[in-house]
Amino acid sequence: MVFQRDVAPGIHRLEHAYTNQYLVEVDDRLVIVDAGLPRSYGPLVEAIHHLGHDVDVVSALIITHGHFDHVGTARRLAKHWRIPVHIHRDDAWLAAHPYRYAHQNATRLGVPLRNPSSWKLLSSMAFAGAFKVRGVDAAQLTTFDDDAELPGGAEVIPTPGHTFGHASLHLPDRDAVISGDALVTLDPYTGAHGPRLIAGSATADLERNRASLDAIAATGAKSVLPGHGVPWHHGAAAAAERARHTDS
Ligand SMILES: [Zn+2]
Ligand SMILES: [Zn+2]
Repeated sequence: MVFQRDVAPGIHRLEHAYTNQYLVEVDDRLVIVDAGLPRSYGPLVEAIHHLGHDVDVVSALIITHGHFDHVGTARRLAKHWRIPVHIHRDDAWLAAHPYRYAHQNATRLGVPLRNPSSWKLLSSMAFAGAFKVRGVDAAQLTTFDDDAELPGGAEVIPTPGHTFGHASLHLPDRDAVISGDALVTLDPYTGAHGPRLIAGSATADLERNRASLDAIAATGAKSVLPGHGVPWHHGAAAAAERARHTDS
């Protein structure tokens, strides 16, 4: 695991199995963004302890989208930590069935096989429980719409394409946007680095994803905090411009 404090003011990054979660300080509580893989539970608890807190300071979980690598511990957190789990209403079904996702290219396995550099990443995700994710019960979910304001003052930036209900989160007071998998700096399916879209093998609609980059750019945020890869601090517009030219 990698634990990186203050990637933006009061936002900490936990990376486990090449997948990010963010711990956002809100007054004296913590809001968690994304739920990693099943075995990310231990690293998450460790990260909270690192900050000098116990898990009871966590007040909410927000999920950017319903893929297995972003909902891995959600069921457990909802049940044992008794926190609300917020997700866009168009991804709620996916969060309950995290393997039934749409993807653009039929040859889903073809991508990693053609890209040996991704083997290490994908096997790490597999070891972290990627194939053992249990969906979240619909009753455990609190759904939101496009214009919602979420805990911590996070503004929803609808960014459909990677999934149909994908939501990025703009935190204006931190000059940051949490972009989930709408814009990443590491594609776990190809091993490619730098601001980009995720390969069509794992993305529902690449052209829609590309169009959603405008909304990320429009935040004007300095920092982009992606679902996979390292933070980008050279502005949302520059990250979006680079991602637009992803050739996948
Ligand atoms: Zn995803
Ligand atoms: Zn992901």
